[in-house]
Amino acid sequence: MAEVEVQGISKHFGEVRAVDGVNLATAEGEFLVLLGPSGCGKTTLLRMIAGIEEPTRGDILIDKLVVTHLPPRVRNIAMVFQSYALYPHMSVYKNIAFPLRTRGMDKAAIPAKVEWAAAMFGIEKLKHRKPRELSGGERQRVALARAVVREPSVFLLDEPLSNLDAKLRASAREELRQFQRRMGFTTIYVTHDQVEAMGLGDRIVVMNKGRIRQVGPPREIYHFPADTFVATFLGSPPMNLLEYAGTLVGFRPENFLPAEFVSDADGVVTYPFEITYLEDLGAETLVYGNIRERFHTGHVVSRLPGNVNVSIEAGRTYAFAASRRDLRFFDKSTGLRTEGSLP
Ligand code: ATP
Repeated sequence: MAEVEVQGISKHFGEVRAVDGVNLATAEGEFLVLLGPSGCGKTTLLRMIAGIEEPTRGDILIDKLVVTHLPPRVRNIAMVFQSYALYPHMSVYKNIAFPLRTRGMDKAAIPAKVEWAAAMFGIEKLKHRKPRELSGGERQRVALARAVVREPSVFLLDEPLSNLDAKLRASAREELRQFQRRMGFTTIYVTHDQVEAMGLGDRIVVMNKGRIRQVGPPREIYHFPADTFVATFLGSPPMNLLEYAGTLVGFRPENFLPAEFVSDADGVVTYPFEITYLEDLGAETLVYGNIRERFHTGHVVSRLPGNVNVSIEAGRTYAFAASRRDLRFFDKSTGLRTEGSLP
């Protein structure tokens, strides 16, 4: 277990500012998720922490020790990539034992360590197989076992679940989280998948264009986004944004419901919602349409839970409402969240 700290880190590739002045610190044993769109710099940041990319500027500290110019092997970090990069000609056992052998561990001590790591991921029975004889999920477990076998103090994961199908991804996510809790490794996990980020992270770091936009626990990021980028990157469909007198008013689709379902002592705002399209997804129905009012116009989405029984159809207009408590306000020019209210 260790703390990782990143101080004013930048990485420029010619004109490209892949990472641009990032400051960040993990707590010991924390599961921190770096989340952002493709190309936002999250992999580059992870690679600098691992020591496989040299920063243009700034420092990296592990347990308060500056490691910026130290090679990967002395950082006691394990990294798992999207492509697991298992050695195809070696058995599962040999793959897992490999990091111990290259570090010159006493040969007699290796089998017990491999057993321990294999048991951790439930792959004891696969030890004699070659990677090509494994399913994607099993390969992923071997890669994780190989990464943890030498008990690193920091665990770096770069989209490790993206090769798995949706069902396996959900169970692998749960497994990974439980394993991390049990072991207490400080973990930094890169993904562009907001569902993965929300489900896994103790805290989420939202990045865009090489910079951090917000750091916080998942619920805080979701309910109190720092700006319109975060508000619309998280949530599917994203937060609705309506323009009002130089401000943007935001509300989540699940908080915008037929008016008869919304009541709140703090008050509600009601809009005529002209429905253009309905999408029945079973567990929920997405309702797309437009709000046209004197001060507000815009395209918005409502998300109705499947058990809400209302008859609505496309082409008609209904009264929809949001609780005032669920409204967020953003400065139109900077995009930053501000205080605000509606009359
Ligand atoms: P993805 O989710 O697609 O992997 P990412 O957020 O991890 O994206 P990075 O891989 O860190 O993004 O890349 C950030 C930016 O730096 C991109 O614009 C990318 O093209 C650029 N970049 C990354 N590595 C190099 C390199 N070796 N040489 C030049 N440009 C690079």
